[in-house]
Amino acid sequence: LFAGQVEFLKGVVAMDGLPPADRAEVCFAGRSNVGKSSLINALTGRKALARASNTPGRTQEINYFTLGESHYLVDLPGYGYAEAPVAVVEKWQRLLKAYLSGRQTLRRAFVLIDTRHGVKPVDEEIMRLLDSAAVTFQAVLTKADKVREQDREKVLEQVRAALARHPAAFPDLVLTSSEKGDGITTLRAIVAGIA
Ligand code: GDP
Repeated sequence: LFAGQVEFLKGVVAMDGLPPADRAEVCFAGRSNVGKSSLINALTGRKALARASNTPGRTQEINYFTLGESHYLVDLPGYGYAEAPVAVVEKWQRLLKAYLSGRQTLRRAFVLIDTRHGVKPVDEEIMRLLDSAAVTFQAVLTKADKVREQDREKVLEQVRAALARHPAAFPDLVLTSSEKGDGITTLRAIVAGIA
């Protein structure tokens, strides 16, 4: 769908560095190690596209990718890094808040949840932030292949219950495995359908 036309555009460290708000954009957020880079790579059909955002120094940037000429895909840094200095975390949170509440063309956030762990307190934090910024968000369960099919329903129930408490949450979940390719076509179609 987007293959061959996906490019890294830039890493943004301040609001005045954002590209022109001239197309629909979606952002991806998730705890560090949730499988975000793998998912973005699977989604875009590029092997190492999202790796840049994981390299040191890049972790506090909002990373922009172009999906053809119709969309921006925005990779938000993984949260939950306790090691980061307080000043760095605070600067980042200010930028994140400014971005989420000020970006007119941001259509949807995808919040990644590890299928093994369900919704954790740090995930709740980002969800509250999205609620207060009135950004519609959708949960994407990652690494589904690591959980046996008969054990998944319990996690899905916990995630659905958590989402029900958030006014900005979209009720539908997407279950994915970047490893096996499950849910990738579905997620790609969802992104492509966002205008
Ligand atoms: P990020 O920190 O959120 O960008 O996470 P990564 O994409 O770097 O993935 C973290 C780890 O989980 C890596 O070792 C990946 O190989 C592994 N991983 C990511 N997605 C999947 C998946 O769908 N299935 C399995 N089994 N492992 C995965």
